[in-house]
Amino acid sequence: MINRLRYAKAQLVLAGLLTIIPTLATRAEEASRLLIPHMVPLRSLESREWAEFPEQIGNSSLRLTFAADPKQDWTLQLRQLDVKQGWNVLLNGQKLGALERNENAQIATFAIPQKLLQTAGNLLAVEPAGHRSSDDIAIGQVRLIPYPPSQALTKATIEVQVVDDESGQSVPARITLTHLDGTLAAVGNQSTAGTAVRTGVLYTLSGAAKIKTMAGDYRVYATRGFEWSVAEQTISLQPGTADPVQLRIRRVVPTEGWVASDTHVHTLTFSGHGDSSIEERMATLAGEGIELPIATDHNVHINYTSYAKRLGADKYFTPVIGNEVTTKIGHFNIFPVVDGAETPDHTAATWDQIFENIFKTPNVQIAIFNHARDVHSGFRPFGPENHIAIAGENYLGWTVQANAMELINSGATQTNPYQLFHDWLGLLNRGHAIAPIGCSDSHDVARHFVGQARTYVRVDDRDPGQLSLEDAVRSFREGRVSVSYGLFSKILVNDQFAAGDLVPTKGTHTEVTVDVLGPAWVRAERVRLFANGRLVGSEQIDPKKGQAAGLKWTAHWRIPNPRHDFHLVAIADGPGVTAPYWPMAKAYQPTSIEWESRARAITGAVWVDGDKNGQRDSAQAYAQRLVQQHTNDLPNLLAALDAYDAPIAIQVASRLRQGGTSPLDATLNKALSNASEKVRDAFAEYRDAWRETVRTTSR
Ligand SMILES: [Zn+2]
Ligand SMILES: [Zn+2]
Repeated sequence: MINRLRYAKAQLVLAGLLTIIPTLATRAEEASRLLIPHMVPLRSLESREWAEFPEQIGNSSLRLTFAADPKQDWTLQLRQLDVKQGWNVLLNGQKLGALERNENAQIATFAIPQKLLQTAGNLLAVEPAGHRSSDDIAIGQVRLIPYPPSQALTKATIEVQVVDDESGQSVPARITLTHLDGTLAAVGNQSTAGTAVRTGVLYTLSGAAKIKTMAGDYRVYATRGFEWSVAEQTISLQPGTADPVQLRIRRVVPTEGWVASDTHVHTLTFSGHGDSSIEERMATLAGEGIELPIATDHNVHINYTSYAKRLGADKYFTPVIGNEVTTKIGHFNIFPVVDGAETPDHTAATWDQIFENIFKTPNVQIAIFNHARDVHSGFRPFGPENHIAIAGENYLGWTVQANAMELINSGATQTNPYQLFHDWLGLLNRGHAIAPIGCSDSHDVARHFVGQARTYVRVDDRDPGQLSLEDAVRSFREGRVSVSYGLFSKILVNDQFAAGDLVPTKGTHTEVTVDVLGPAWVRAERVRLFANGRLVGSEQIDPKKGQAAGLKWTAHWRIPNPRHDFHLVAIADGPGVTAPYWPMAKAYQPTSIEWESRARAITGAVWVDGDKNGQRDSAQAYAQRLVQQHTNDLPNLLAALDAYDAPIAIQVASRLRQGGTSPLDATLNKALSNASEKVRDAFAEYRDAWRETVRTTSR
């Protein structure tokens, strides 16, 4: 990223107003004029947003003057980088438009109407519009082109056809067009029925597309989401020509028996924000290979079926009616909803009321806890002020009634890529049956595109247009899922049990096999295994194999069986994708100026029946029994914990606190001084987490 920011001399240049010396001739045939060759960093407010930007940036806006023939239509282009918030572009005090709110490097294009220009002394300004937090951006390579955009952007055509290398048939795809430095290129097309077009990005349902752009050198890519290979070609376009390009891609990640679902999908049409129309959404879903999209606009029930049929997208996916129940105390994605059903009341003040309304909605069986670490309406559901994550304990005394939870939301990524994963493990220990979810929360065509994070669900996937919703819902409920964000993983226990299963124990050990899969364009580095949320195995993946297409790695572990139940979960990860055809977004509400993106795969949980009673007992269930057994006998309670793991001791600490015994209680601490180190450490862990909650709530 850093090498893409070429700030050369930006600081010096910005010390004063930039004045571009007028050149003499300005005839239409003349080549475009470069007003600023380099990139200039801007920071809208005081604080630094990202470490990759300079510590000090003196400017929050760019101003430059230039001369131009006012009897001529011009196009203004600039290269923009890392734009998250609104930035206006003004010419002589009039708004030309705004930078695209998209953090990826791209070319922004503006029409300059003749009436706005004067012969000399034209003032171009780029300035932030109403920011409440700081946005670090870079703009530059500002260029004047002596044609209106309708001509400037249609000088050359690329006729792209994306073909499945195996069948020879055209397939829905995403075509990405960049300059040779990776910047998304300006295109002269608009979306049509079956295509969705943005700067440098064109989704096509048919696999064919005519992309209009300027003459020059380009790289063109074809992709079809996570399961497919990438095809790329470099081309040199001359004005007035149409160049045919065939790009062959191939399905490289075997996911037979698993359906690719995006449980969190928006449209501009029905949510009122973002930029993807409902028609464009059909092309993006098929182009990213999503087979089970859940429509989840805010507090409405939307049925994609008629749109998918009309555009011929219905053979690629089975749409599901859902709803993002958007409340002041959390967002919850619910499905499946019966067409025409009344929406649940989202104004209720407690989770109890909200969930009562949710599960009264006809047919609704799945409720997902969305982006639980993000702040919305001033409320962060799993923030330490409300939630003691290691114990899965709600500090407000509310009960989590969702049966699934977003661990990766690719449109709202976290600074700490593993926080929600650990939050989920805490909830499993608390006794909540919760399926792990990956989703996109996409409102856009290209910015945070659909299907990047996704959930694989165990369903017969032979006919994506006719998937069994009943089977899918059952698999979600039972946790027969796998979370994917550039990687995919499968867990197998004792050679026959998978995510969602309860494994009968035999012998002293449990055998665990984890497969890590992905395309060659995503690298896997590491795979780890957790038992009751504790790390019990970790393997570095051979670098060469981590880059393979399809099955990248198989890890084997042999875990000694405790005498109690436990759950097993694996997580694989590798470097985030920065390629322009699938870039992973920076943190949505960053808590640090440092940012590291990680591709990830998280398996569903497998339960091991250590106590052989034929049911799943959570850490919380054991804690409850132990506390009951040893009422008013702390020394014996703590001694009994020696036979259990740390998560069970943490649940005991939590129960004791809820029963009135503070982690700072003198009697408790005296008893702890005689307890084993393992038990003492677990209680200290709970005490520290609880203290953070107390600190946060007393602020
Ligand atoms: Zn939301
Ligand atoms: Zn949403």
